[in-house]
Amino acid sequence: MSADELDAIVVGAGFGGMGAAIQLKRCGYERIAILDREDDLGGTWYVNHYPGLAVDIPSTTYSYWFEPNPTWSRLHAPGAELKTYADRVADKYDLRRLMRFNTTVDGARWDEDAERWRVTLAGGETVSARFLVTATGYLSQPRIPDIDGVSGFAGTMIHTARWNDDYRAQGKRIGIIGTGVTAVQLIPELAAKADELTVYQRTAIWVVPKVDFPIPPVIRRIFARFPAIQGLLRLLTDALAEVGISTAVVNYRWTRPVNSVATWVSKLHLFASVRDKRTRRMLTPEYEFGCKRTTFNNDYYRTFTQPNVRLETEGIDRIEADGIVTTDGRKTPIDTLVLATGFDLWEANFPAIEVVGRDGRNLGKWWRENRFRTYDGVTVPSFPNFLNLASPYAFTGASYFTMMECQMRHMDRLFGELQRRGSATFEVTEDASARHFERMAKRLGNMVYFRGNCAASRSYHFRGDATIVRPSSRGRALRESTNFPLSDYAFR
Ligand code: NAP
Repeated sequence: MSADELDAIVVGAGFGGMGAAIQLKRCGYERIAILDREDDLGGTWYVNHYPGLAVDIPSTTYSYWFEPNPTWSRLHAPGAELKTYADRVADKYDLRRLMRFNTTVDGARWDEDAERWRVTLAGGETVSARFLVTATGYLSQPRIPDIDGVSGFAGTMIHTARWNDDYRAQGKRIGIIGTGVTAVQLIPELAAKADELTVYQRTAIWVVPKVDFPIPPVIRRIFARFPAIQGLLRLLTDALAEVGISTAVVNYRWTRPVNSVATWVSKLHLFASVRDKRTRRMLTPEYEFGCKRTTFNNDYYRTFTQPNVRLETEGIDRIEADGIVTTDGRKTPIDTLVLATGFDLWEANFPAIEVVGRDGRNLGKWWRENRFRTYDGVTVPSFPNFLNLASPYAFTGASYFTMMECQMRHMDRLFGELQRRGSATFEVTEDASARHFERMAKRLGNMVYFRGNCAASRSYHFRGDATIVRPSSRGRALRESTNFPLSDYAFR
């Protein structure tokens, strides 16, 4: 098939891109190219394979609602099982043959005359399609901290999103920068093996106990035989996840006692794990629970009682070839530098590639000049036949898959109408986009980010007056994605 015959280009072969491709196929489009810069599918669950990686919301909820997986070995499955699940879904829905790996997309431009997207790949090749879906995820651009001397470090340097499986921590003096969700999972693993582990913490994180257990083989067999039973468990875990995010984050204005309770649960967890008062003080955040991603772990706090582990809260002045120097002039010699420093989101990921729509409108520029926004978390005016999945205000509920469910429903309604009318293009109207944004903006004031004490959190969940989290309940988001007024779109 020539590239000019493509119905759709999907950028990203992770769960987002695969969900979009499944939906496009359901809508009758078969000529799809899924492009990914990596050499395999799975997105974040292919790229991330650091020790200790596990999903931290129940796997029953962290999976496609139409594709339950009876083989999860634990309530919170290890990362490798997510990759296996992604492989299985790709095979079942025959997506692999649509995928093109080692293919970096540089940018995309709408060709108004041809009514097609022209997508430029690194190396200069151009492919084109009627529809463009960017499914590049929120956490796809690893952040290398801008610390003096970081590039001159002479030992082993590993970012968690570029883990080297051959690396052995035994006998090493390791310095790890960062105490986000990734570090919380990785630190106990490194501490169990390293000679010395120094943890450089800039901002402490609230950690609550994780309710996790193995799923016995007999239960897995029951799930495989009677999917409805696993469905019931999913209803429960969905509800718990929804209660968590809708109280502690979205509706904080009315439910702030929930945040206080969660804070005390975390403090008790810390108290039970660490006897030293000073260490407890250092590990206690100065912002409210909910400002940052909720973190579940049973080993993290206890790790700081090990004799080979040291928590360093003094700022980092510079990195030298063989160690880290803090602002008070102390140098800690290390032979491994682990960067658990997360991802660039707002700067590098909105959008992840340059997208130029009708009349030369540049998405990144337009967002910055007109505030970040997407209609129902997917579309933007002046960008016909374009869906941006990992968008501002798109992340619904506690699971990425809930967001996907909303977006796939939106696609179903949108493409259904496009076909019913026999139109060539869809485009959300400026007016509908503005009204939707106003509705979102009005609800922002209820969220913990803007009403709570989040100033010291350095959370990537919000930036200025924008957030990635949709300020609504899961039910409302699903309803809006299913019933949005079709008149909000112009079909030509
Ligand atoms: P993150 O939450 O952004 O944490 C990055 C850490 O690095 C923070 O502690 C940050 O400190 C620190 N840092 C960054 N630059 C620094 C600098 N220049 N100097 C000192 N410290 C610096 O990233 P992450 O831990 O990789 O987690 C990202 C997201 O991945 C999570 O929120 C979660 O959504 C997802 N995740 C999910 C799972 C799962 O099980 N599902 C597991 C892992 C990760 P500050 O806080 O001070 O900026």
